[in-house]
Amino acid sequence: MSRGFARLRQSILWVLTALWMVSCAVSPTGRHQLMLVSEDQAIAASREAYVETLKPFKEAGKLNDDPALKARIDRIAGRLIAQAIKMRPDTRNWDWSVNVIDDPDVVNAWAMAGGKIAVYTGLIKKLKPTDDELAQVLGHEIAHALAKHQAEKMSVAMASSMGVLAAGMVSKRPALTMAGAAAAAALAIQLPNSRAEEAEADRIGIELAAKAGYDPRAAITLWKKMAKLSKGPSLEFLSTHPLPENRMKALARLAPQMMRYYEQKGDRPVYHIKD
Ligand SMILES: [Zn+2]
Repeated sequence: MSRGFARLRQSILWVLTALWMVSCAVSPTGRHQLMLVSEDQAIAASREAYVETLKPFKEAGKLNDDPALKARIDRIAGRLIAQAIKMRPDTRNWDWSVNVIDDPDVVNAWAMAGGKIAVYTGLIKKLKPTDDELAQVLGHEIAHALAKHQAEKMSVAMASSMGVLAAGMVSKRPALTMAGAAAAAALAIQLPNSRAEEAEADRIGIELAAKAGYDPRAAITLWKKMAKLSKGPSLEFLSTHPLPENRMKALARLAPQMMRYYEQKGDRPVYHIKD
C-alpha cells in the first residue's frame, strides 16, 4: 500500500469520525445513532416517497379496497398512534396516514418517517393475525418511525457513499436532490434493519401495544407465526426485519413487564386517522 493511499485512508477516517461526532443522535432507548440526514429531511422525503409508492396501487384500484379490513387496521393503528403521541408529543404534528395495499402474495408492513404506514393484504391472509398480534406488527413499525430509524438508514447509506466518494472511486455523484432524497427514503424501508434497530423497535412496539390495550404475549405468538411461515417462500417482512435468534427470548422477558399497562382499566385514547 502506498504512503499516499495510507494518508488518504487516514484522512477519510478522520472525516467520518468528525461527521459521527457532530451528527450523532441518541435514540429513545439511549442508543447512539449516526444522523447525517435530519428527521425533518427524512419526513419531507418520505411524504413524496409514500405518495409515489402508493400511486400504482391506487391507480389499479388496489388501495383500501376492503372497507372492513381498512376499518380494522385503522381501529388498531388509531389506538397505537394515540400512545405514540403520548410517548413523543411532537409527533402530534405528524400527518399520520394508514393505507392497506391489496397484494395477497406480499407479507409486509412498514412505516416511513413521519408516520406513513402501509400494510399488505398478504400479511393478513397468510399470517392470520389476531388483533393483538396485528397491534404488535403495527406497534413495531410505528416504533421504527418514532426512533428515527429511516433517517438513520438514509444516513448510513450516505456515509458509505461519502466514504466511496472520498476514496476517489467515484468522481462525480449528483448531490442529494429532492427526487434523490425521496428515492433514498423509499429505498430505506427496503433495506434490512440492524439488530440494534430491531431490538429497539421490539422494545418500544410492545410497550405501545400494551398501553393501547393489546396483549403483550401476542408479540411472542406473532413471531412464532412469522418464523413458521418463513419456512415457505420468502417473506418481504423478514428480509427487512431479520429474525434474530434471541428475539423470542427478549420478547418473553419483556412481556411480563408490560402486563401492568395491558391490564389497566378504562378506555384507551384513539387517534382519528384521516381518510
Ligand atoms: Zn423491524
